[in-house]
Amino acid sequence: MSSKKSAAKPALKFNTKWQYSAAPETADHIQLNDKYDLFINGKFTAPSSGKYFDTINPATEKKIASVAEANQSDVDRAVKAARSAYNNVWSKMPAKERGKYIYRIARIMQERARELSVIESMDGGKAIRESRDVDVPLAAAHFFYYAGWADKLDYAMPGAKPQPLGVAGQIIPWNFPLLMAAWKIAPALACGNTVVLKPAETTPLTAMKLAEIIRDADLPPGVVNIVTGAGTTGAAIVNHPGIDKIAFTGSTDVGKIIQRALAGTEKKYTLELGGKAANIIFEDAAIDQAVEGIINGIFFNQGHVCCAGSRLFVQEGVADVVIRKLKDRMETLIVGDPLDKNTDIGAINSKEQLNKIKALVKIGVNEGGNCYQSSCEIPNKGFFFRPTIFTGVAQSSKIVQEEIFGPVLAIQTFRTVEEAIEKANNTPYGLSGGVWTDKGSKVFKVTSKIKAGVMWANTYNKFDPTSPFGGFKESGMGREGGLHGLGAYLKLN
Ligand code: NAP
Ligand code: MG
Repeated sequence: MSSKKSAAKPALKFNTKWQYSAAPETADHIQLNDKYDLFINGKFTAPSSGKYFDTINPATEKKIASVAEANQSDVDRAVKAARSAYNNVWSKMPAKERGKYIYRIARIMQERARELSVIESMDGGKAIRESRDVDVPLAAAHFFYYAGWADKLDYAMPGAKPQPLGVAGQIIPWNFPLLMAAWKIAPALACGNTVVLKPAETTPLTAMKLAEIIRDADLPPGVVNIVTGAGTTGAAIVNHPGIDKIAFTGSTDVGKIIQRALAGTEKKYTLELGGKAANIIFEDAAIDQAVEGIINGIFFNQGHVCCAGSRLFVQEGVADVVIRKLKDRMETLIVGDPLDKNTDIGAINSKEQLNKIKALVKIGVNEGGNCYQSSCEIPNKGFFFRPTIFTGVAQSSKIVQEEIFGPVLAIQTFRTVEEAIEKANNTPYGLSGGVWTDKGSKVFKVTSKIKAGVMWANTYNKFDPTSPFGGFKESGMGREGGLHGLGAYLKLN
């Protein structure tokens, strides 16, 4: 791994030199209630058990609001409302009218973008730069994109006489709360389905804001229902006999439980699950650009990204220089207040997730990996974790095989193109990956041989509503986004 030409220099200590004044985004323009009820049949309604749980700000550990816990009978009410709206209104409405409602949701989201970004960062811990520049604009873009398809389904699927499925149950995780809600709801509505959606327990607030937007857009009652709660609420949706389709994004473990529950039923399903993506840097790559892409791929959004580039394979001749540059760049990353516009890495979403990351890093050290963490200060309160890299790890190391879902990168080296492909494919997952090289032919060779749903070349983590997304192997089944995303919500003859 070492070559004399590129011997490793010690990492630079930038953090004492580059201090930025705090630039916090204000939260005085947002409106939050102390308590959120369930959104069923166009109205906010109390949970039948009377139970509420707290959602906290992971950067301060302070409670933000109480949120209703939906049980089986609440889910039943939501499914009945969705069925009635499907039978009586939504499936009968001319498609171009459906499209107008979806456009309206997109426009209101844009109008309220600032509020949505601040709430997303408060409830989930992600840096405001991410929620402001990525999550919220992309969420609105999904509604705009699918609004355009609503009255063109016959052109999207020529000769297939596309028909809606009925009521879709949708269950989403905490890492992109509003974006995942948009990703699920927009294509379902465009195809003429109605929806019961459950956000994650730790990040329900932007989904509740979306419920307000849907109400303000005058969507007919029952077309979208949002029920909050934990895993049992999700299970009640999965097992409800009145549901025609399940769209799930989350962990592979829960995906397997859902797949078992749905086996032998008539319900259609798509599963978007975990990942352990490989970034591959060849010697002929633009190294600085690649380093920036690797940093972006694993550290921004705290590594809470299913397609995070959590494994890095570097060709031997450039390994030392890449690792040195990575360490230098890590030293400049600012970890802290998610609402500060300077912050690169916000708070880890929950204490549970922080403990999981810490435990896996400890295993990595115990297995003999060389652990390097940036020397930045982190706040005393809240859930934070320093950007971390491991070198000297083996293919069999737990931190190379398991999804960590935190800002932790495992680095290995390779000599040949074939070795890089083999190592990258040596994982139970197959969601995404990245290739960094100057040669177009190498891009095509490598991307066509890596078993992953999404491959980026000389960039990373770029999303667009027109592109399909989804995994192979334990990363799931089915595709969301683009034309493929329509197919998942339609019956085709
Ligand atoms: P998770 O624990 O699987 O939870 C996902 C959702 O399922 C949450 O709303 C959760 O509720 C709910 N749930 C939990 N147990 C359930 C059950 N038995 N039946 C039905 N629903 C149940 O995943 P997570 O920790 O929130 O999210 C992180 C995972 O999501 C990572 O593995 C990541 O890779 C994956 N992910 C994948 C994609 C993709 O597109 N492939 C995108 C984003 C994230 P509670 O949270 O309220 O308990
Ligand atoms: Mg929260």
